[in-house]
Amino acid sequence: IVRTRFAPSPTGYLHLGGARTALFSWAFARHHGGTFVLRIEDTDLQRSTPEAVQAILDGMQWLNLSPDEGPFYQMQRMERYREVLDELLAKGAVYPCYSTPEEVEAMRERARAAGLKPRYDGTWRPEAGKTLPAVPEGRRPVLRFKNPLTGVTAWDDIIKGPISFDNSELDDLIVARGDGTPTYNFCVVVDDWDMRITHVLRGDDHINNTPRQINILKALDAELPQYGHLPMILGPDGEKLSKRHGAVSVMEYDKQGYLPEAMINYLARLGWSHGNDELFTREQLVQWFDSRSLSKSAAQWDPKKLNWVNAHYIKQTPDAELATLVDAHIRELGGDPQAVDLPAVMALLKDRAETLVQLAQGALLFCAPYTPADPALVAEHLNDEALETLRSFRIHASKLPDWTAAALHDVIQATLAERGIKMPKLGIPLRIAATGQKQTPALDTVLAILGRETVMQRLSAVLD
Ligand code: GLU
Repeated sequence: IVRTRFAPSPTGYLHLGGARTALFSWAFARHHGGTFVLRIEDTDLQRSTPEAVQAILDGMQWLNLSPDEGPFYQMQRMERYREVLDELLAKGAVYPCYSTPEEVEAMRERARAAGLKPRYDGTWRPEAGKTLPAVPEGRRPVLRFKNPLTGVTAWDDIIKGPISFDNSELDDLIVARGDGTPTYNFCVVVDDWDMRITHVLRGDDHINNTPRQINILKALDAELPQYGHLPMILGPDGEKLSKRHGAVSVMEYDKQGYLPEAMINYLARLGWSHGNDELFTREQLVQWFDSRSLSKSAAQWDPKKLNWVNAHYIKQTPDAELATLVDAHIRELGGDPQAVDLPAVMALLKDRAETLVQLAQGALLFCAPYTPADPALVAEHLNDEALETLRSFRIHASKLPDWTAAALHDVIQATLAERGIKMPKLGIPLRIAATGQKQTPALDTVLAILGRETVMQRLSAVLD
């Protein structure tokens, strides 16, 4: 049975790279009918905050990536880490090291001077027949993992293929600090083991940790998970994606009016593909998500494509649902969503909007306090001839039994015919008079949504 996990460190918000890792781990588990675990790696007390934990949970909830198990918190598992450390200590797989940080720095210096990789020199590493130095009084040791000195540590990466490290390259890793607290790599190992994780998908910035984690797992006689390291996401300029490229927090995309389903669809394509399919549902993603289609090369963030995907999902969303989603955005922009038949407005605008915020901006035409047209615009377009045209439109419109877009369309046509003019000669003055703006979406629908009373009032303000 497949078990995957997402293991964020709560030090900021849920960023795009993290969200993609979560999505892939989730989709992989779902595809195989497995279990997706959420684990919060909060042992870095200086950098972890409750707000950041909440931000991760919010982001995952928004994307609807709910874990089957967890969240587990590493800070609540300290006793367990201690227990495993004791076990390894008893086995001789970890050992106390009394070298001070200054001494270790000096060892590194010496290695560098000899043209070697800087490393701890093994002073306190127990070996058969070796006499260890006398334990300095009052000094608290760190615990180090007794890494194999020879051979290689290798794995067949799900994404990158075979990877191997010479054990001679790997230092004796510190697994517990002087105050007894376990270190990052150690906690990850114990957790992956205890949580029976079968597939670890994570960013390729963790590749160097993997051989160390594998060696500790071996010392525990644990079954090894399979590892897959995701190439990073690059910005449009080819540099690592960062704030310079725009929003990197997932929840920022919520604020900017992106739909979670569009985000999921777009994020999935950053490093995964199914033929040439660009648009697919969450269900299709799960059905198709096998690790063979994960890409070895870095993915590039493309805001235009994200907008295109979002526009697609906006078009697909029923008007009433869009109205609900856009409500808060309209309020934020100072409009009153209650003041208008919002689903009708959505039907009018949704084919051309790329974000919910754009939809909200468009809706303001109907539900923000009215500002009559700029006097300069009036002076330019509402000359005597235009006023006559508007009067004739008003006569026809006033006779309408039903104030609908179709009926208004006919009224517009009748006015054009009567006056022997083309659309702009009516359209521009009528827009300016009825909406205060020179450009609007389809005029008949706009007038229908504004309603008879409002349109007649505004015409009267210009004509009488
Ligand atoms: N906590 C790590 C991070 O946020 C991930 C560790 C892992 O996936 O093994 O980068």
